[in-house]
Amino acid sequence: MERLVRSCYRKKSGYAFAKKAEEIAREYGIGRVARLASNENPEPPAPEVVRAGEEALRTANRYPDERTGILMNALRARYGDYHFVTGVGMDGVIETLLRTLVDPGEKVVISTPTFSFYALAAMGQGADVVSVPREPDFTVDTGRLIRAAKEAKVTFLCTPNNPTGNATGTGDIREILGGIGGVLFLDNAYVEFSGIDYLPLMREYENLVIGRTFSKVHSLAGLRIGYAFAPRWLPPWYQRAGTPFALSTVSMAAAAAALTDEAHAERYIAQVRRWRKRLMSEVKFPVFPSDANFMLVDVTPNRSDDVVGELARRGVLVRSCRSFNGLADHYIRVSIGEDWENEQFIAGINAL
Ligand code: PMP
Repeated sequence: MERLVRSCYRKKSGYAFAKKAEEIAREYGIGRVARLASNENPEPPAPEVVRAGEEALRTANRYPDERTGILMNALRARYGDYHFVTGVGMDGVIETLLRTLVDPGEKVVISTPTFSFYALAAMGQGADVVSVPREPDFTVDTGRLIRAAKEAKVTFLCTPNNPTGNATGTGDIREILGGIGGVLFLDNAYVEFSGIDYLPLMREYENLVIGRTFSKVHSLAGLRIGYAFAPRWLPPWYQRAGTPFALSTVSMAAAAAALTDEAHAERYIAQVRRWRKRLMSEVKFPVFPSDANFMLVDVTPNRSDDVVGELARRGVLVRSCRSFNGLADHYIRVSIGEDWENEQFIAGINAL
């Protein structure tokens, strides 16, 4: 029966998931595994957020509000009078945006190396996917990107970029927005850690969509909530293409509550800023400067997967970058976690 499966899925493997901390603990008999592979906030959601979710669970016999009112109101209260679209994680937003805009055979451009789901989702839409490599220092070659994206329906640019950690300045983003043919999806999953504000661009350009997530600074990765700042023309079409009732009542209530807790976000942002400096000075391998809550480490002459395996044995889970298209096989990505996790990482990697 496999012949029934679409050829694109038979040819290419899917999303590369991190190993589970429980498996590592069992395999190597380790008590505490440092979970530094998925760029999550190590602090669990605040009690008010948990309460809001529990309260919402009481009405789970009814379908959620299809207008996602509670979340829209919370987003407007937090950020101002913008237009928003929402989805099941930013992954869901990316998928629905592509479904809204891209016909099979149309061009989607991706600035690489970067987050792998853009290419998978575009492939699922039958798009003609074109990768445009960054410079050797991972800055974006804007001229090259613009030339490739003249005829593209959607162009993906991640800033700060996963897994390289560097951000692209607003001047370059302006140049790209003015030069490309279609929509620029600016992935801001990690923007809270950067100090850069891309939102003023929303007022100037009709072809800009800025993706955000509750999975990182807001500690809600397990609830799968993403959103995007959208130009005014987009939301009605996005709704036509989207899955009905995609966001659950519980997710929306928890997300709305989490948005009001700025102290929660600030605590982790401060932790990230502290540890970015320490990792750069204390790790024996070259660590790239980062505007995000993770750092790219060049583990030459070792191989990515070998280092990830060695660290797992020492109770530290990090991400091998081997699966990132366009990145050589000697990088790992480490998230910034709690103090003991970061310390366990430094001890582990420096012992290699
Ligand atoms: N964009 C980037 C750059 C990411 O790293 C991630 C998650 N790792 C996502 C989007 C997806 O986020 P979400 O959990 O909201 O689907």
